[in-house]
Amino acid sequence: MEVKKEWIPPCGLYCGVCAIMYATRDENEKFRERLAPVYGLSPDEIRCEGCLAEGDAVFSYCRVCPIKNCAGEKGYEGCYQCDDFPCQFIEEFPMPVGKRVMLRAVPRWREVGTEKWVEEEEARYRCPHCGAELFRGAKRCRVCKESVDVD
Ligand code: SF4
Ligand code: SF4
Ligand SMILES: [Zn+2]
Repeated sequence: MEVKKEWIPPCGLYCGVCAIMYATRDENEKFRERLAPVYGLSPDEIRCEGCLAEGDAVFSYCRVCPIKNCAGEKGYEGCYQCDDFPCQFIEEFPMPVGKRVMLRAVPRWREVGTEKWVEEEEARYRCPHCGAELFRGAKRCRVCKESVDVD
């Protein structure tokens, strides 16, 4: 499968299953309006083309991420290449879902390599009831409305 370089964040929060990415891709205003208060931003700030996209094509919080910065300085594609994982930046990540996912995803990435890991992440975020795509952190499927629980 084709792996999108811009969507591979060093921290392991794969951009291809991110709510902000879906809202951007679909130009979904309603979804943007729902996400905006979660981040304390306005709906038009809810856009992103991936962690490694250029300049302000990256979501404002992810643009200044210390994990991305650190991995970049060390010349790593991901924290999976780092012996210090999970370092303080990971431990102190402000969103509990994100931290949980990093602690799960980075060791797996290390184990199977980038391509297989991306494939697994994409397969993982599917509704067990109807098969629709889910975003990381979703509590409910946007299609069938059933409760879901994937981290
Ligand atoms: S908002 Fe962050 S996690 Fe989501 S697609 Fe952009 S860089 Fe990736
Ligand atoms: S120290 Fe290692 S694990 Fe921590 S952010 Fe930097 S590259 Fe990632
Ligand atoms: Zn569903």
